[in-house]
Amino acid sequence: MSALSRAFVMGHPIAHSRSPLLHGYWLKKMGIEGTYERLDIAPDRLNAFFSDYRETGWVGGNVTVPHKSAVIPYLDRIDSNARALGAVNTIWWDDGQLIGGNTDGIGFMDNLDELAPGWDSGARNSVIIGAGGAARAAVHGVLGRGLSVSLCNRTQSKAQALAEYFDGDVRAHSLDELPGLLEDADLLVNTTSLGMVGQPPLDIDLAPLKPTATVYDIVYVPLETPLIIEAKAKGHPVVGGLGMLLHQGVPGFSHWFGQTPTVSVELRNLLTDDIVAKSPSA
Ligand code: NAP
Repeated sequence: MSALSRAFVMGHPIAHSRSPLLHGYWLKKMGIEGTYERLDIAPDRLNAFFSDYRETGWVGGNVTVPHKSAVIPYLDRIDSNARALGAVNTIWWDDGQLIGGNTDGIGFMDNLDELAPGWDSGARNSVIIGAGGAARAAVHGVLGRGLSVSLCNRTQSKAQALAEYFDGDVRAHSLDELPGLLEDADLLVNTTSLGMVGQPPLDIDLAPLKPTATVYDIVYVPLETPLIIEAKAKGHPVVGGLGMLLHQGVPGFSHWFGQTPTVSVELRNLLTDDIVAKSPSA
């Protein structure tokens, strides 16, 4: 008799999460007897959630805003990615121990490698805009490939704090310094929420950017942000944010359900259709 394996995504709010669509697709596609459930856990219920966690039978789950750092004290151990990012987005069991990992950096890089293969051959410098949680994953991933990082943010003190957090070739700058920085960049990444539906676009001049530079926007609603549309029109290799969401889910799924899923065209189309259907102009 096989027990149903139950995984979750927990956050507050959580109704908007597309992770159930992603993991539900893989469960069905791979014929696995399991579930992936949304859990709305307010911060004042986090303690209660973990107090009987061992008895609830969860195989694990995803953790999202606002709990990514708050869950750490409840875990037996966190992996090197979670340590590097100071945040956990995936929880699983390993030999009776509750482990926390962070797959955002993996998702960020796997998406870049899939959609812009060879992007890093000869690449030396990157410009990353933003200094929030997503920027952290991007900086970690890009530094891991040996590129320098120029980190630009509206609030420069946050860029400074993030640059100091990492051991590596990462420097903080203001957004005003972008034109000079873009001249030397092989990779430009937007990790701010600008360009997202309901937000103003990221207003930067791409003219100084080398024609070969890859432009990556981690925002995926809309699927093509104004930044991606402009970069594409100028002939840059471009990478949208949807694949980051898809790829970051792979390690968690394989920890919970014991099989490694793939990021297929069919899966991309499923999520694309959902995003288009829920867009304000649809
Ligand atoms: P966050 O921690 O709240 O950081 C937001 C960042 O955006 C900060 O750097 C902030 O600058 C900047 N920002 C916001 N409004 C701005 C404005 N009007 N002008 C200039 N800068 C502005 O958020 P996050 O978790 O990093 O997420 C950022 C974006 O990435 C969101 O759109 C999210 O949906 C997307 N994301 C995508 C994926 C994916 O899988 N593709 C994963 C994670 C996040 P200040 O520091 O100056 O406030």
